[in-house]
Amino acid sequence: MQAHETTLRRFGRTIHLFAPLYLSNECVSTCTYCGFSAGNEIARRTLTPAEVLTEALELQRRGFRHILLVAGEHARIISKDYLVECVQTLAPHMPSLSLEVQVWDEATYRRLVEAGCEGLVVYQETYDRDTYAAVHLKGKKRNYEWRLAAPDRGAAAGMRKLGIGALLGLHGDWRSEAIAVAAHAQALTRRWWRSEISVALPRLRPAAGGYEPADPVGDAEFVQLLCALRLLLPDLGVSLSTREPPALRDALVPLGVTHLSAGSHTEPGGYASESDAEPQFEISDTRTPAEVAAMLRDSGYDPVWKDWERT
Ligand code: SF4
Repeated sequence: MQAHETTLRRFGRTIHLFAPLYLSNECVSTCTYCGFSAGNEIARRTLTPAEVLTEALELQRRGFRHILLVAGEHARIISKDYLVECVQTLAPHMPSLSLEVQVWDEATYRRLVEAGCEGLVVYQETYDRDTYAAVHLKGKKRNYEWRLAAPDRGAAAGMRKLGIGALLGLHGDWRSEAIAVAAHAQALTRRWWRSEISVALPRLRPAAGGYEPADPVGDAEFVQLLCALRLLLPDLGVSLSTREPPALRDALVPLGVTHLSAGSHTEPGGYASESDAEPQFEISDTRTPAEVAAMLRDSGYDPVWKDWERT
């Protein structure tokens, strides 16, 4: 009840809707929990900037005005220049663009901001250093410190939205991960008070490569975690993805969620036409964006497609 009232006071009856757009599933890193991991024999694909635009326009047709661009880690194929070009191509059509790609230096983030990107999402995945080393076997992502400081570099470069999170179930003790996510969010809120800070609470799902979560978080514990986060950090944005099943997503809306993805594809391509590329993970909520928006309205909430415009 307290979490619900706190959320209402701070955010009203609004839920921001967004969609992930996967640019590429190429990756040179080896992360044990991820379907895109370098060792996995999967169909790989990288969209051209023109194909990215086609996908974005399809998402726009479905109502979206905020897109999260996602890619694996491949500094040659998914280069700085490629990312800048994708952002520049989309910016005239999409008011809000965020990035969830490999971490970069401040100068690169500055280029991306100038191109029209306003948000940066970097999941630390796990805050436990031993677990981090055990699941990130190869690639640039092995550098814990460099990744941890990425949201600060992004904010320093002008990103006005910062998203962080941990993959719940990766580390044996999810409660300590939750505390670390909260402490990180609190620190970012203090340091970058002009930026909007949000967290995501993805629970690990089976992925290509046969990964099974070691310590799955139950539904009751998940609800408890969401309420605790809301009470600790009343201004925090909380994002919930289509990894979670429809009934649970609907039930969590009043408790503190502020951002929902909808109608998601986790493979490159797939919105404007069928794609044979491998998805990053299975999704549970397969409802269309219109169906999710209708559910929100039926529950007395306003689906918010757009709350930002560059001038
Ligand atoms: S989590 Fe990221 S870096 Fe690791 S394998 Fe997947 S796409 Fe690559």
